[in-house]
Amino acid sequence: MSKFKVVVDQEKCIGCNTCPLIDPETFEMDATTYKAKVKAQPETITENVKTAISSCPVTAISIVEESN
Ligand code: SF4
Repeated sequence: MSKFKVVVDQEKCIGCNTCPLIDPETFEMDATTYKAKVKAQPETITENVKTAISSCPVTAISIVEESN
């Protein structure tokens, strides 16, 4: 069964703080790097996750399929 995970590209993220504002359950800012990171993988791809992905100014957030 394939699974997915949300990934924040640390190289691309400019720390604009948008994604944690849109979806604080999934994203948070890293206090050390000032970049976003995944706080908790969502059970499903919610509207909030989709909005965060489409709102990121540098397209740093993506959904990666995992097979396991
Ligand atoms: S919206 Fe994009 S650039 Fe802004 S904090 Fe989130 S991942 Fe980083």
